[in-house]
Amino acid sequence: MPITDEYTLLCETCGYTVDGLPVEGNCPECGRAIRTSLPEARQGTPWDRGPSVRNWFATGWMVVTRPGRTFEAARISRVRLSGLFLTNAVIAASAAIAPATAIRAWAVFGAALGLDLPWHFENRAIEWLLITPLAWVGGLLLVLALTEIERIGLRVIGGRHRWRVTRAITAAVCEHASYGWVIAGVLVGVASFPIAVEPQLWRNLLGSGWQPWVLAGYPAAMVVGLLIFETLVYIGVRRCKFANRARPALEAGHPGPSPATQPPA
Ligand SMILES: [Zn+2]
Repeated sequence: MPITDEYTLLCETCGYTVDGLPVEGNCPECGRAIRTSLPEARQGTPWDRGPSVRNWFATGWMVVTRPGRTFEAARISRVRLSGLFLTNAVIAASAAIAPATAIRAWAVFGAALGLDLPWHFENRAIEWLLITPLAWVGGLLLVLALTEIERIGLRVIGGRHRWRVTRAITAAVCEHASYGWVIAGVLVGVASFPIAVEPQLWRNLLGSGWQPWVLAGYPAAMVVGLLIFETLVYIGVRRCKFANRARPALEAGHPGPSPATQPPA
């Protein structure tokens, strides 16, 4: 099975090289219609077709409800992670810190305004607010690092299976799977409630000292979120392991003679 470059047309089901065969025909190996393996057969997810708030929600809904269909439609178009990934990374980091930050901000500003708060906050609330930007940056860097590691891992796994998992394919898979990071961020935010509310509350309720189990929500939320991301990546790489990318215009077809090759006048 010769794979010449990342633009060589392969059957998306079995990886057989169908480049140069009539597109009306079928893959000689598995019978899949060659037409359905063309790069333009991937219609693109809503975000691929145009970034917008509406398309962010539409793409997220598609990823969650029909992940297989999403990764069959996703366009393989660029090597770098797109704005979709950065959007999701920022939303994930923000969702992770938002509930605790909101509660603490309420404590700080509520006390300053003389509001009657439902429970007594320890005076660490201001420190907590200062930690918040650091936690946000940390969460963002964690998502970026884990996703880059995932992309390297996908290339290794693809190589072992003799798939054609290019950088452009890992970009398309990971940026759509990054909705998993958004879910992870929301879960971490929910897990932060017991600590953000007030450790004193737990001591009063449970009648004993420091309760380490209130921290257990953090790793649990992270592990569940990571599993969701990994599951989406797994579905994605199975659907894109031979995905085709359109050859850039200059390399496609017959480019005109470049000025350098033209005879001197
Ligand atoms: Zn085939």
